[in-house]
Amino acid sequence: MPTTSDFERMLRGAQLRVTRPRVAVLSAVHDHPHADTDSILGVVREGLREVSRQAVYDVLHALTSAGLVRRIEPPGSVARYESRVGDNHHHVVCRTCGVIADVDCAVGDTPCLTASDSHGFAIDEAEVIYWGLCPACSTTQSS
Ligand SMILES: [Zn+2]
Ligand SMILES: [Zn+2]
Repeated sequence: MPTTSDFERMLRGAQLRVTRPRVAVLSAVHDHPHADTDSILGVVREGLREVSRQAVYDVLHALTSAGLVRRIEPPGSVARYESRVGDNHHHVVCRTCGVIADVDCAVGDTPCLTASDSHGFAIDEAEVIYWGLCPACSTTQSS
């Protein structure tokens, strides 16, 4: 488990000034993969009571731009954040409850699907989302 000083080192490594809200948000995203802004705000406020929603929003934006945090937004879902960056992993989303899990990319590099026709584009990514029912929801449906 990374400590506060690890998060401070990550911020400095990304040329970001170390502030308590930045450390708190980075730590919250690390502990709660695929959490949305409201959930992250709730976690951050456990330690920093006075932090505003806008401040958390701004920090998430800065962390995402700096590459410390990845933002995902499956269709029908609000934006969610995770600290697992730098790989090309995908997500499986439950159609019923919206829970999200990581799926390692079978290929590893982007783009992991070859376009049948690139139309002359220099394609650098194929966005893959797997959809289905999570174990809990498929149990409910079949009973
Ligand atoms: Zn589900
Ligand atoms: Zn993920």
